[in-house]
Amino acid sequence: SSRVVIIGAGIVGANLADELVTRGWNNITVVEQGPLSMPGGSTSHAPGLVFQTNVLKTMSLLATYTVDKLLSLEKDGQSCFNQVGGLEIATTPARHHDLKRKYGWAKSWGIPARLLSPQECLKMHPMLNKEKVLSGLYTPTDGLALAARAVQLLIARTRKAGVRYLELTPVTGIEQSDGHVTGVKTPNGTVAADIVVSCAGFWGVEVGAMIGLPIPLLPLAHQYVKTTAVPSLAGRNTQPNGASLPMLRHQDQDLYYREHGDQVGIGYYGHRPMPVTAASLGPTPKDVNEKKMPSRLEFTPEDFAPGWKESREMLPALQETEIADGFNGIFSFTPDGGPIVGQSPTLDGFWVAEAVWVTHSAGIARAVAELLTTGKSQIDITECELSRFEEVQLAPSYVNETSQQNFVEVYDIMHPLEPKQSPRNLRVSPFYTRQLELGAFFLETGGWERPHWFEVNAALLNDLPASWKPGERDAWSARYWSPIVAVEAWKTRTAVAMYDLTPFRRVEMFGPGAVDVLQRLSTNDVSSGPGAVTYTLLLNDHAGIRSDLVVARIEEDLFQVGVNNAVDQTYLAREARHQTKRNPNRWVQVRDITGATCGIGLWGPHAWDVLSSATADDFTDKGLPYSCVKRATIAGIPVTALRLSWVGELGWELYTTADNGQRLWDVIWQAGQPCGVVAAGRSAFHSLRLEKRNISYYNEMTTEHDPYEAGLESAIKVGKKGFVGQDALEQRAKKPVSRRLRCFTVDDGTSVLLNKEPIFHDGLVKGYVKNAAFGYTVGKTVAFSYLPISVSEGDTLEIEYFNQRVTATVVPWPVVDPQGHRLHG
Ligand code: FAD
Repeated sequence: SSRVVIIGAGIVGANLADELVTRGWNNITVVEQGPLSMPGGSTSHAPGLVFQTNVLKTMSLLATYTVDKLLSLEKDGQSCFNQVGGLEIATTPARHHDLKRKYGWAKSWGIPARLLSPQECLKMHPMLNKEKVLSGLYTPTDGLALAARAVQLLIARTRKAGVRYLELTPVTGIEQSDGHVTGVKTPNGTVAADIVVSCAGFWGVEVGAMIGLPIPLLPLAHQYVKTTAVPSLAGRNTQPNGASLPMLRHQDQDLYYREHGDQVGIGYYGHRPMPVTAASLGPTPKDVNEKKMPSRLEFTPEDFAPGWKESREMLPALQETEIADGFNGIFSFTPDGGPIVGQSPTLDGFWVAEAVWVTHSAGIARAVAELLTTGKSQIDITECELSRFEEVQLAPSYVNETSQQNFVEVYDIMHPLEPKQSPRNLRVSPFYTRQLELGAFFLETGGWERPHWFEVNAALLNDLPASWKPGERDAWSARYWSPIVAVEAWKTRTAVAMYDLTPFRRVEMFGPGAVDVLQRLSTNDVSSGPGAVTYTLLLNDHAGIRSDLVVARIEEDLFQVGVNNAVDQTYLAREARHQTKRNPNRWVQVRDITGATCGIGLWGPHAWDVLSSATADDFTDKGLPYSCVKRATIAGIPVTALRLSWVGELGWELYTTADNGQRLWDVIWQAGQPCGVVAAGRSAFHSLRLEKRNISYYNEMTTEHDPYEAGLESAIKVGKKGFVGQDALEQRAKKPVSRRLRCFTVDDGTSVLLNKEPIFHDGLVKGYVKNAAFGYTVGKTVAFSYLPISVSEGDTLEIEYFNQRVTATVVPWPVVDPQGHRLHG
């Protein structure tokens, strides 16, 4: 097998060695700067609370696997997981409400959980102050990871299997040749490798810097204390670190608790963020111990004071105790709170698995091992991808600010649409001035300011026909929403609207090999044209959907490719590099043109009237048929026009360079006035897209799904051979699917779903809401979910929204214009 070097023997590195060995790889070296018995990283002092339920399915599944694995890791009859259960309590009405949402996620992800009354909370955790608790969420399978012990057992087990460990050996550099990693440098010489995986925890930035790879994580100190013995706990736990009460989260005050024998451990996130630079900690000493390790800084009692005061109120028995020991322990935070996992975009064979909690450690290690050995992780880890960040998000100032914010918000109740407060206005489209004038309500994604609706359209609310009037919303779904969205949807379906497409990522692929690379990666035939626009899927080797692209062939050797994210771009660029190396005559280059260009989606039954009054170029069905691209001019402005519509109406995507952007907007806006053109935002776009079942990668499908399950057979070119995933796809085609993406509408016509809610059929959870939006055209919420094949059209489902059930009906899709007549005007 490949020669692998793992940097770091924390909970991630040790698990990775183990997962690779389990998969038959045997040429593995773990290089650790500290002593193996206690390396001195975050794992060495982690109190190890594992709460599995997370808003993200991926994170929950990673945690569930970690629990299973630690339970199976035994020595002397003791496993590495103390399954005491986890109790999260609410002390505010908002948290009480939010626990119901979280209970829904637990059901969606298959984690057993129960909502508890205050009395039940008290029974479960008698130390609680009954005056303070409103309710609780209890998860019996949560518990305490014995992380440092697990590392020792994993080291012993993998050593037996032949893994080599080099302790007290810092990696000081990365060797490479011809774009591929070849080894790591240490003071004792080079260790050769085909694959290097940095599991360096909060030292990740320093290791990344060895190859010029920015790692967007920030080490932050986080306070943890142990009290003196609590009299009422005396004799309860036999082990010094033992625990039998459920671990407790008191998120309203940024606190968590566990037992350590008859002492109580308290973790606190309520203090000021305390950023650290790993490099400033100096080399790891040889004599690391409990009190002296690089990841442990001096306790600052003044920062803990509010947490201590609150703890003594919440757990009154602590009034009989003092703080026996406290420290400021370091671990990693990231701009979006997720781990950082994946291969370097530019250096093949160099991987990272960092900013990983103990909670997700074994899950992440398994995912990386699977990716290395088979090319596919059974849990989709798109949300953890190293390459997911935009360039502006890699700037140290951005990482600093947003990771600190993440620390502050770690226990906060976050709405799925809630934008960052800061930094804002990092990236704006050339239409920004006009959008401001129209009263755009902006939310932020990937650094882009994106209008969700325009206040100016409020004037049209009075004209809105009764059948389009949206109902009252509950307080949660009414956040980041306005009834104006209904106006914009209505105008798009009945007149014409302008959508800002600028933030949708676009790359140019050019060179004689461009078509080769795209054909090799695509399920569809993207070789027609010039002039053709093709929707295609990208699969992994196992026929899971890794992305979808809109490929516009502008010239023989020039494609404009609509990609989903930076991960796609990294993938295309890597494949282009390999192709160019293999066959220099068929070279290809990939260039991000998103910021250098801008785009308007001009859609609606009157789109033709608008465009034809602004240009003499031929935009008829003959001049630019559906799913075609051409270069044209509009009032003298050069544009690349794609005849496509995400919202399912007649119209075009019109792209131009950034310098021409504002004028293009103005020209179309002027031409649209007689037709009542409106500017429309992301909220209407989202709703209209789902009504038309224009599904897209990540939102409605991931590597967990294949094209047959997603109902995207039309994106596979019949008879096409030799593309990535083709063999596996052929095998899948032979077997009937066991689940399918289904569309359903909520019966009462008013209830709104956001997504991730559990779905019941015949009384059992059969799936979860993959995506949903209120469909203004049909006057109902329209939602999508992968459901077992036994669920049929016409069946009734029950969806649980904040612990309340609403009924829904499985319907044929799309719910608007199934024949697609509207696309042709
Ligand atoms: P580490 O354990 O830091 O391991 C990285 C290793 O890499 C280190 O041993 C280091 O010496 C080595 N290394 C670095 N650079 C080099 C180099 N150049 N050459 C050789 N070796 C190198 N998580 C939870 O899930 N639940 C909790 O309750 C919890 N509580 C926490 C409480 C505190 C106070 C702290 C500080 C953290 C807590 N965490 C918790 C977070 C958790 O501890 C970490 O996220 C996790 O341990 C990280 O594991 P790791 O293997 O990635 O990193």
